[in-house]
Amino acid sequence: MRRKLAAGNWKMNGLSGALAEATRLADAHPAPRIDILICPPATLLSRLAGALKGSAIAVGGQDCHPADAGAHTGDISAAMLADAGAGHVILGHSERRADHGETDEDVRSRVRAAIAVGLRVIVCTGESGAERDAGETLAVVGAQLAGSVPDGMTAKTLVIAYEPVWAIGTGQVPTPDQIAGVHGFIRSRMIRRFGEETGQGIRILYGGSVTPDNAARIFAVADVDGALVGGASLKASSFSSIVRALEASV
Ligand code: PEP
Repeated sequence: MRRKLAAGNWKMNGLSGALAEATRLADAHPAPRIDILICPPATLLSRLAGALKGSAIAVGGQDCHPADAGAHTGDISAAMLADAGAGHVILGHSERRADHGETDEDVRSRVRAAIAVGLRVIVCTGESGAERDAGETLAVVGAQLAGSVPDGMTAKTLVIAYEPVWAIGTGQVPTPDQIAGVHGFIRSRMIRRFGEETGQGIRILYGGSVTPDNAARIFAVADVDGALVGGASLKASSFSSIVRALEASV
């Protein structure tokens, strides 16, 4: 049985006042039946980890540099994330791939660095609108999986997120059949790559305009093991509704 995961990606949002949203969420879910994760901006990571200590909510980073340390102005290493209290890191988000030119090879080296310091990784995949229109969705996602995920991953260390770029922050959501098609494909690729047991154990999250209104419909889809949530994770009230919808799907 894969334990479901609701992961919030705050992106470049949140000043000190946002810490209260996270503690409100923790208070609302003292003993959740699923895993809950918040990935705040790096500036809040340490304080958020402190504020959530002893709660059921884990914290994570949004990116890390592949090197251990060195002359990389503005970057953050995996060890720094772990030292700040992170247990997870999102890697290869489409905004990193687009805004910072991260390639599959870049993502793969970041995954290796994160795993080396004991972080769990959420590797993001997803096609653009033009790629979907051209019928290239599975080819794009397949290439991202092959290129971004290194060998030797386990169900404990790896989570895959399917996030169609055209659905992120747009209010557009794929149909249940479209989600099922891609999640089933990712599952089969993970089994082919890592074997039946590991492949069946790796969690696959859907991401892209998940809201309290559409969460239950998405969570009813086969091979959807939770969600990576952007905008709706910023407020405790909306993220809490999504958490409840995921718990109800268990
Ligand atoms: C994301 O970018 O990871 C995301 C899912 O964003 P949103 O929920 O705002 O579409």
